[in-house]
Amino acid sequence: MTIIHYPRTPIVTLSPDVAERIAAGEVIERPVSVVKELVENALDAGAREIRVEIRGGGLRLIRVIDDGYGIPEDELEHACARHTTSKIRSVEDLSHLHTLGFRGEALASVAAVAELTIVSRVIESEDMGEEHPAASLTLRGGEVTQRERKARLHGTTVTVRDLFYNVPARLKFMRATRTEAGHIRQVVRRYAVGYPGVRFQLTHEEQSVLQTGGSGNLATTLAELYHLPLAEMLHPFSHEEGGEHAFRLHGYVGNRALAQPNRQHVTLFINGRWVQSRSLYEALEAGYRALLPKGKHPLLVLHVELAPEDLDANVHPAKTEVKLLHEAEIANAVTKAVRGVLERSPALPEILDFPGPELVYQRHLPGVRRRGLHVAETAEGYQASQASPVSAEVLATLRPLAQLQEAVMLAEAPDGSLYLIDQHRAHERVIYEHLRRTYAGAQPEHEEEWAESHLLLEPVMVELKRHEAELFEQRLPMLRGMGLECERFGGRSFLIRSVPGGEEQLVEHLPELAHLAAEDSNDWQDRLLIALACRSAMRRGRVLGMDEQRSLISTLAATSAPAVCPHGSPILLHYSRAFLIDKFDW
Ligand code: ADP
Ligand code: MG
Repeated sequence: MTIIHYPRTPIVTLSPDVAERIAAGEVIERPVSVVKELVENALDAGAREIRVEIRGGGLRLIRVIDDGYGIPEDELEHACARHTTSKIRSVEDLSHLHTLGFRGEALASVAAVAELTIVSRVIESEDMGEEHPAASLTLRGGEVTQRERKARLHGTTVTVRDLFYNVPARLKFMRATRTEAGHIRQVVRRYAVGYPGVRFQLTHEEQSVLQTGGSGNLATTLAELYHLPLAEMLHPFSHEEGGEHAFRLHGYVGNRALAQPNRQHVTLFINGRWVQSRSLYEALEAGYRALLPKGKHPLLVLHVELAPEDLDANVHPAKTEVKLLHEAEIANAVTKAVRGVLERSPALPEILDFPGPELVYQRHLPGVRRRGLHVAETAEGYQASQASPVSAEVLATLRPLAQLQEAVMLAEAPDGSLYLIDQHRAHERVIYEHLRRTYAGAQPEHEEEWAESHLLLEPVMVELKRHEAELFEQRLPMLRGMGLECERFGGRSFLIRSVPGGEEQLVEHLPELAHLAAEDSNDWQDRLLIALACRSAMRRGRVLGMDEQRSLISTLAATSAPAVCPHGSPILLHYSRAFLIDKFDW
């Protein structure tokens, strides 16, 4: 992302009518809120390096050191008063914000509940020599207690001690030091992801918690933060839309091997601001839900860039919610972009410890092999272009080599890498897409769209529960369209006379399928198609000739999501050339 820095303007007090229009609310709830506000101030000041030190989970000390443009001595006290900001002047400025801060309340709120010391030196004063040192101002409980001069290079250091010392009610709510420190780590990590061009460092009790190099490359930054071992772990995506409501999306989705049981590593930035837009999170989730196992969430970073006019940042006191004027278009593009990547992202052979060890910075460890798979090394030579999901063309050119355990096809790609393909899941994917194309939404009136069904010599009788039987009866015409011809046999019993596709092996699963077809849910049809595909697909344990393997691979290549079975499990496992070179030490 290009960060444009606007020249600093003096700090002013907002007029009451402007102050009133700004979403109000409590700014400082816990230590992490202080860190967030101070880091945002440093970013707004154009810092390229931000160091955060905390002690006692931030309650004893929070210090944020930046190399930004600084605060002039005569504005220092003003900066700590309420509603004083250099970032906006008028209500109109709110509609084209270029900064993270704009309310002029953070420093004042912190000063009221802690001891706050600001040491700052403006960038211009460095040319003027030692007679213009940094100014230092300390406030406790909102009152100035000390003024000093100190030596330092340009930039600002804000130190917050004894947070909430005068608000015992607040202190009571604080959790264990470790919990507070954990929140802080998450927030700093988030900003490091949002600003790959800025070097971040976080220490707790003088121990390094995280560190990034400020390379400007998001993939490198993610590899540094998560200690990711291989370039193939991250798949880039981007999308650009022109016209009146132009916007741009870009980001990375982690390989499915990195999927997590919570959303903690799904991060969304809009114009450099970390936000919690419900609809965009839903759009992201819609992009990956069916492609990962149930309840799993990817490592995912999305940056949205749009004209500041198309965004209202002034809707939430912590500024973490925004209103997008053309939300539906963006949400749609987000879903497509994420789905497009995951549908083609094969599984990887590494067993991963994710997120990587938080405290270890492996570059400094003795005995690390030069070409070892540790992040610090690989991150340097990281090339995002390596990390592309498998394309239909590559899949179509795979050459089957052999079958393993009568279950997995081994195939070689033209670049010499190896793919392992689960034959059951590959076939399941092929059948599922065929069924979906042919029957999903098929209306019983259009007989030509009906499934090619196979009459069973002996109809199978299934018995349903009372509430199921009613739904099942209503759905009989739809089921016929799907190749399942059934009729009521009295009471709660039904006869199934035909199955789709002529797969005899389906017969033993008919009771289970009938229960699915009688499920009281919105997605019963899709769930039924998935089950039909699963039960009709060839099983593991079947010997496949080379021709059969070739034809299964090429039909798989033509599907929309060749890497993932309809249940969200992997079909492909990829051993890249880089992996072989590394592991064999070639
Ligand atoms: P806001 O960020 O909403 O303007 P704050 O209370 O956070 O309000 O800060 C008040 C003002 O102090 C800012 O507008 C900015 O001019 C100045 N300021 C605060 N922190 C820094 C910093 N780290 N570097 C430079 N200026 C800063
Ligand atoms: Mg601020």
